[in-house]
Amino acid sequence: MEEFSACSGLEVNQGKSNIFIAGNIRVPKEELVEVFGFPEGTLPIKYLGIPLASKRLNASDYGQDEMLEKGSREDAISLWRKWFSSKGTQEAYDWFRPREERRFWAKYVWKDFVPPKYSFTTWLAIRGRLSTKDRLVFVDDLDTTCQLCGRQDESVDHLFFKCPKTWGVWGKILEWLGIARRSVTIKSVIKWAGRQSRGSVIVQTAKRIALMAAVSLIWKMRNAVIFDGKTWDTTRVIFQIKEATYSILYSRYSPDQVVLHLPDR
Ligand SMILES: [Zn+2]
Repeated sequence: MEEFSACSGLEVNQGKSNIFIAGNIRVPKEELVEVFGFPEGTLPIKYLGIPLASKRLNASDYGQDEMLEKGSREDAISLWRKWFSSKGTQEAYDWFRPREERRFWAKYVWKDFVPPKYSFTTWLAIRGRLSTKDRLVFVDDLDTTCQLCGRQDESVDHLFFKCPKTWGVWGKILEWLGIARRSVTIKSVIKWAGRQSRGSVIVQTAKRIALMAAVSLIWKMRNAVIFDGKTWDTTRVIFQIKEATYSILYSRYSPDQVVLHLPDR
């Protein structure tokens, strides 16, 4: 901690600090408390406004009393009504829409059966936060041309649907998943797939995994091309996407059923 302090110039405020002890430790608790010199705290506490705990939180940990008390709730609704009528429907709609959009993406992207790295890359791509070259404007003299095709500037839209190199991947993957629609952006294909309820659960699950695996594995190979001098390999990316999808499906459903619903074509 002293080393951290020396590098960062940040110091621990003894008066504002607590020590939290969790898990199996060999040293007696009292000794630890003495060594660090902070009073022992108990969880849950609020850190930057968010409840922090080592176990599942109860509603009361979120300050239910303040938030859901009957009086204050009614106040909140009447305040909201006032605000709504003063703003007009269109403006209120514009205010809520981005949040609803975000909720739609969040619900689609974060699923327990999708490996977090796939969800994360897709989330960044959808939110426009992936570090494609068009976003690195602060780097002087950066050649923003797509390193895969060398034809256009590299953006999320280019990389994930317009680049002729990655288009070969999408073509095969969409065909394999039975998605006939030719999409132009990653958002539109996910939105479309997310609203399609036709098809078996296996196929629905497969679509979700494969689309996100595709974004993640294309991004991974793009990085290997740029940073490690590797050569783009369409067949290999397709193989990796299918391999990832089948291995997750096999862990959830019987292999016979998987192959029946989603033959490798
Ligand atoms: Zn390209």
